[in-house]
Amino acid sequence: MRIPCAYANWKMHKTLKEALEFVYEFVPALFRTVKEGSVGVTIFPPAPYIWAIRQELTDQSPIFIGAQDIHTEKEGAFTGGISGNILRSVGATHIIVGHSERRHVAGDTNEIVGKKLKRVLSDRLIPVLCVGEQLREREEGKAMEVVEEQLSTAWTGHEVTGGGLIAYEPVWAIGTGKNAEPKDAQEMCSFIRTWVSKHFTPETASAIRILYGGSIMSDNIEHYVKLPDVDGALVGGASLDPKQFLEIARTIARTGGGGTS
Ligand code: PEP
Repeated sequence: MRIPCAYANWKMHKTLKEALEFVYEFVPALFRTVKEGSVGVTIFPPAPYIWAIRQELTDQSPIFIGAQDIHTEKEGAFTGGISGNILRSVGATHIIVGHSERRHVAGDTNEIVGKKLKRVLSDRLIPVLCVGEQLREREEGKAMEVVEEQLSTAWTGHEVTGGGLIAYEPVWAIGTGKNAEPKDAQEMCSFIRTWVSKHFTPETASAIRILYGGSIMSDNIEHYVKLPDVDGALVGGASLDPKQFLEIARTIARTGGGGTS
């Protein structure tokens, strides 16, 4: 059984005070209203807040903290870079790799994403590998080809375990208020699971969690989390509001996600 996930990508938003206020409101409300073990929550705040937020969670807390990016190298003279060791030492367990804003704004190529994924795995952290096509690529019927290329360049040759996650995020749906049709999201997530089965093992494919991301809100999450190959969501804008994100996490917990059916 795959525990469904509600993952919050805060991007470059919130002050430290606002981040802590979110935690003080969201965490107790989640505990009060959701059955233990019914949803895995990870928050990806701006990196400087990871330590402070981790301090607010008990060791038994099922809420994890992650980072939105990682440097390709282990350590060294890389001004401004943040390594896996640094992130782990402040309490991060999960790392987003290949988010579309890193690929298309910061210039991370498939090869750089592959190096970052390798670094995450070598540093014993849990990767959330983001893949997804641009609008033009979907219109030209190339969505699967693009996603396959992103998967193979990043992941082939690295051991992938059930602990890692893949997030399917069509670029044109991120932060735009547009959503993929649920049938298209299912088709792509099923394609991703089949890819994992072919390149690794059927057991890994049935254990790995695949998330959908792209303008998820509390009023549309149910359409996605019911899909057989979707195990939850990576949420950007709507995760900034504790009430909205709580509602999303509760719906995911209640609906169960693909792997529980
Ligand atoms: C994201 O940043 O990964 C994302 C899906 O953003 P949004 O939910 O705002 O579209």
